[in-house]
Amino acid sequence: MQAVLKDSGLKITTQRCKLLEFLTQVDEQHLTVENIYQGLNAQGETIGLNTVYRIMAHFEQAGIVVRRLFESENAVYELNNKPRHDHLICLTCGKLTEFTDPLIELRLGLAAEHHGMIIHHHSLNMYGHCFDCQQALNSQSARQKVD
Ligand SMILES: [Zn+2]
Ligand SMILES: [Zn+2]
Repeated sequence: MQAVLKDSGLKITTQRCKLLEFLTQVDEQHLTVENIYQGLNAQGETIGLNTVYRIMAHFEQAGIVVRRLFESENAVYELNNKPRHDHLICLTCGKLTEFTDPLIELRLGLAAEHHGMIIHHHSLNMYGHCFDCQQALNSQSARQKVD
């Protein structure tokens, strides 16, 4: 934990360590500042919402986390420790799925090259209805037909 902070050039503070520890421990990898704040406080940490905002901004600047903005949602943060990936977002339940597709990467690279652009980062999000929500919607409309 401390090594990550040290490498990033950030000063090591107890609160930064706590926050980073929390981010590496939780299952859900895309979290809003409120999620992180609530999670930490549920663990008995007394850390203010504003402090979490401030630390996450520092983490983002230092490249420890990536900030993502999905439609109609607050920004979410995820640790910047995995390969580049894209996201599928369910409009009904908000479920987030990650995927990587080398062909998409390749096509994006070619498109950028074609326009003389060097890619710094890209974001590709697809919005729709996940399998579970489709099932629920289908059985709902089937029921309505019976009524
Ligand atoms: Zn869904
Ligand atoms: Zn992700």
